[in-house]
Amino acid sequence: MSGPSIDGQAPEWAPDSWRSKPIKQCPEYPDKAALAKSVLALNRLPPIVHPREIVQLKQHLRDVAQGKAFLLQGGDCAELFDYCEQNAIESKIKLLLQMSLVLVWGANKRVVRIGRMAGQYAKPRSSPMETVNGRQLPSFRGDILNGFHPDERELDPDRLVRAYHHSSATLNYIRAALASGIADLDKPLDWGLGHVRDPVLKAKYEKAVNFLKDMRSFMHTIGAESDKFHTVDLFTSHEGLLLEYEQPLTRLLDDPTSPASRPKKTYYNTSAHFLWIGDRTRQLDHAHVEYFRGIANPLGVKVGPTTPTSDLLALLRTLNPSREPGKITLITRYGADKVASLLPAHIRAVEDSEYARTVVWQCDPMHGNTQSVSGGIKTRRFSDIFSELQQTLRIHKEQGSYLGGVHLELTGDAVTECLGGSEGLDEDDLSTNYTSFCDPRLNEKQALELAFLIADHYRS
Ligand code: PEP
Ligand code: MN
Repeated sequence: MSGPSIDGQAPEWAPDSWRSKPIKQCPEYPDKAALAKSVLALNRLPPIVHPREIVQLKQHLRDVAQGKAFLLQGGDCAELFDYCEQNAIESKIKLLLQMSLVLVWGANKRVVRIGRMAGQYAKPRSSPMETVNGRQLPSFRGDILNGFHPDERELDPDRLVRAYHHSSATLNYIRAALASGIADLDKPLDWGLGHVRDPVLKAKYEKAVNFLKDMRSFMHTIGAESDKFHTVDLFTSHEGLLLEYEQPLTRLLDDPTSPASRPKKTYYNTSAHFLWIGDRTRQLDHAHVEYFRGIANPLGVKVGPTTPTSDLLALLRTLNPSREPGKITLITRYGADKVASLLPAHIRAVEDSEYARTVVWQCDPMHGNTQSVSGGIKTRRFSDIFSELQQTLRIHKEQGSYLGGVHLELTGDAVTECLGGSEGLDEDDLSTNYTSFCDPRLNEKQALELAFLIADHYRS
């Protein structure tokens, strides 16, 4: 069996060829029979997403790579199975829609939306053990592997199947909500503007909404109607960390891009539209890169202070040998204090090569800016997040490249996990509503404010 884009040059690929490579962050399940049973169940279950949707997203990402659209990707650091619930899903969809409305208005470009949703259940951890209330326990690795509760820290293969069901139930509700008009541009004020209490932010948002309403009524008057006004696309994504889950959902399916006269089958990962390789698992000769080079989905790769410039081109050549524009999104995450010294060389390595204008450059201003404050609470400063984003925008402009998107950890709820923003949250406020089980997320106000700051960059 060979993969879809290997051109006969790279070694044979198969959905399980990653198993012969060294691997990081890989769980050792003690009960192999139970693991086999779960994998068998996953093998039988239908795809969660369809190749047509995957191909559609790749076409949108090609537009992003070429500077014609902007990519907004966001959601929780770690989704819990408990987040598979109507209000949690709706508030996240609404926030992503509100932010994209602001970005459309600001950047004057179409916005492609991807949720870190419906499958973001596995987390890389820096240590296999952690101390909880004085007890040494196996670290919480995400709901797909073990439970957060101290009594549920053993790896449980049954969670693989539960992850599938929570992922499909979440995506089912996303589809239902979108199809039922949650995103209808004719009623943008129903998108939950009530929670924006800051009068300055609210006035700015109303200005954007009024602008869109005026445009909409103008289109209506001149008779320009389109289904596009009544619904939007929201694609799903997660870190492709747990290959025991990704492999059985990898399917050889009809390739919608092949002509009817010459039908072709291609491998797709059907667990999400978009998957990314994390900062800890992108080693060239390791299992994750081996697995990801064989699937046709658009892919992200996290790029940070530990990414050697020379690895970038090697990764692109391995993951995208045919140089499809939009296939690879480079998700940069250096930290506000490092981005200026590291990003320019990474941009030049790619943009001066045969991969020029093929990648989507996306800024993740979250993961390089995590810090601990008193009591060991993990937080991020809004000012650092904005600073990395602002520097990234400026550097791309100077280098003649295009910053095509942002990748954010956010939630539609009023959490108090990141410091600063227009509410001026300080260290004492962190304990008010800190509910993340993993990294600190932007709350709805902070996320919307960041969207306005990006919009301001484009409008000024
Ligand atoms: C993440 O996106 O949650 C994450 C762990 O990021 P990174 O791989 O960049 O550290
Ligand atoms: Mn995270």
